Amino acid sequence: MLLKDKVAIITGGAGANGLGFATARLMAQYGARVAILDLARAEPQTAASRLGEGHIGVVADVTDKAACEAAVAQVLQAFGRVDVLVNNAGITQPVKTLDITGADYDRILDVSLRGTLYMSQAVLPAMRVARSGSIVCISSVSAQRGGGIFGGPHYSAAKAGVLGLAKAMAREFGIDGIRINSVTPGLIETDITQGKLTDEKKVEIAEGIPLARLGRASDIAGACVFLASDLSAYCTGITLDVNGGMLIH
Ligand code: NAD
Repeated sequence: MLLKDKVAIITGGAGANGLGFATARLMAQYGARVAILDLARAEPQTAASRLGEGHIGVVADVTDKAACEAAVAQVLQAFGRVDVLVNNAGITQPVKTLDITGADYDRILDVSLRGTLYMSQAVLPAMRVARSGSIVCISSVSAQRGGGIFGGPHYSAAKAGVLGLAKAMAREFGIDGIRINSVTPGLIETDITQGKLTDEKKVEIAEGIPLARLGRASDIAGACVFLASDLSAYCTGITLDVNGGMLIH
């Protein structure tokens, strides 16, 4: 049981087909007690109940600092500790540079980047006291290759920002026994593209991938379990590419 007795918070974890829920499910299978954090409309409590007994759902908007702090307080009250945070909440938008409005920029950057900062700020004090913790930040191959698959340039910028934030936090909190790493998924079939990729487009994309298929949510969940567990005890500030070889660099 790789994650026995560990408490893990997964943001944006309520969507049944999403990377967050797949990660929550795998962490629960490896023995973690999981808190699924998501917007009220995503019904995180219902999602948590699908994991079985002993897990909780927490409503919070990661762009709201007070809500992040209240959510972590709720987890600490329920479980008494927090060992793992997966900063997974994110939204995207397929638009070109000249069409990005200020409101679009704020929306996309706020969830991925501000949300990663606020949630990390909310868990770090408890992790520091415990002198241990693992934060996993979900970036994207889009940050590394400059988009070109679905999300617009502001999405690439948000996800590239996540990589920089994670590395800088890793440098700062290593001394406290806290590891902070990123995962850069390639194209994974979830609800985020909302059926906007045609089957022809998917075939075209798969042809450019050495492993010759799009990703599955479970592919990302496995990487998150590795980074959350002591198997990755000497990894911090790393970027773990999970893209089937779409970007080899
Ligand atoms: P998804 O849409 O299924 O999941 C995103 C989740 O975030 C949803 O449950 C949503 O309710 C939640 N969320 C949105 N705004 C929120 C907020 N303000 N506060 C709290 N929760 C919020 O999409 P997914 O594909 O599972 O994406 C998960 C993460 O992986 C995202 O950060 C996404 O950018 C990233 N990613 C996905 C892919 C892919 O191909 N699917 C590739 C690279 C990176």
